[in-house]
Amino acid sequence: MGWQDELGRSVRTVEALAAHLPMDDAEKARLGEIAERYPMAITLYYLSLIDPDDPDDPIRRMAVPSEAEARLTGSFDTSGEMHNTVLDGLQHKYSQTGMMLSTNTCSMYCRHCFRKRLVGLSNDEVARQADAVVAYVAAHAAINNVLVSGGDALLNSNAQLEDLLGRLATIEHLDFIRIGTRVPVVFPSRIVGDQALLDILARVQAKKQLMLVTQFNHPREITGQSAGAVRAVQALGIPVVNQAVLLRGVNDDAGVLGDLMRGLTGIGVLPYYVFQCRPVTGVKTHFQVPLREGIAIVQAAKAAQNGVGKSFRYCMSHVTGKLEILGMAGPEEMLFQYHEAVDSGNLGRLFTRPVATEQAWLDEPVLIDS
Ligand code: SF4
Repeated sequence: MGWQDELGRSVRTVEALAAHLPMDDAEKARLGEIAERYPMAITLYYLSLIDPDDPDDPIRRMAVPSEAEARLTGSFDTSGEMHNTVLDGLQHKYSQTGMMLSTNTCSMYCRHCFRKRLVGLSNDEVARQADAVVAYVAAHAAINNVLVSGGDALLNSNAQLEDLLGRLATIEHLDFIRIGTRVPVVFPSRIVGDQALLDILARVQAKKQLMLVTQFNHPREITGQSAGAVRAVQALGIPVVNQAVLLRGVNDDAGVLGDLMRGLTGIGVLPYYVFQCRPVTGVKTHFQVPLREGIAIVQAAKAAQNGVGKSFRYCMSHVTGKLEILGMAGPEEMLFQYHEAVDSGNLGRLFTRPVATEQAWLDEPVLIDS
């Protein structure tokens, strides 16, 4: 069976889900309403990782709609994506990085997705013409890397990927191209079951360094299949790095987060970031962990790692830049540093900010001299 056929067998309705995870009619009706608003898709592989007897199973939390998604608090664009869009499907927030929305589809619609406004829904923000994106990148020598994202970049067809990656690979000022995908975690057969895709990646890699950026959030996502997908990519000389999201009920525990990092380094995946969950509508109320709790979890998880395992940064993708959350600077003050900055003058700047016990985001970062 090809990956498209396998993807076609994914669970996309609450009725179909109930055959795998028992639920009564009232729950079916409630979750059905949520799935109408925010689409559901769960691959049979990812479904097999869920413990059907545990309503609080962390894998389930990431895949199965929750009534909490109906809460309207939050925002659909928490890090200024609209503002940073320079043409359809291309964001240019930091001078050295171009970020392309290559598709609005994913093999699994993560319930915590920060692009909930578009995944599985609107393709208004997706690049219609790869030509325009390639031309923009080619004309901006300051861009030294492109992140091909989405949706899930590996949900594009092989022909689309070969065309896009092949053209980006000819741009001399690009050091490397990143591919943003959760496929190794939620749908590994897209990689291990498709030699043609691996051949395309090998051909592009021969011209330009590729890097695969994925998102493992829980140690139980590291399986023989997901590790096999990672290894197939690594065998081409393509590094695989991980951007986890700190999620309530999933990895908000130092032991779990520590096991995740150890498991990742054990399969040669570099833990790169742990992101603070954004205050996204339909996400923030049930997935966000307060910052003070978050830094305590991260620091305890790091304590159990070797140097490679603790190399990740705990960051917040803020409208003004990527803020590294460094720690407490007093009983109620937290220390932050601009790891990336929209205003390059802020790069590397340290600042403190009072953070209340339940506070999970910074609305307006205060700069040293502002
Ligand atoms: S794979 Fe990425 S873009 Fe797609 S739903 Fe999950 S987090 Fe969102």
